[in-house]
Amino acid sequence: MMNTDTDDNIVQTPKSKFLRVKCVDCENEQVIFGNASTTVTCVVCGRTLAEPTGGRSRILTQIIEVLE
Ligand SMILES: [Zn+2]
Repeated sequence: MMNTDTDDNIVQTPKSKFLRVKCVDCENEQVIFGNASTTVTCVVCGRTLAEPTGGRSRILTQIIEVLE
């Protein structure tokens, strides 16, 4: 691993938000990016959880928590 950054130098994107969501089909919980530019699917059953709408994501499942 060629990592020259220190642990104090974590890159953060100001407006990025992560959402903890639960799949309404299989109840799998996963964290997705709120501004995803591609369709996000459940890693377990493949249900579409979010789709891009030209800026922010349209969330198509249950949001449990917003992580900032
Ligand atoms: Zn699922």
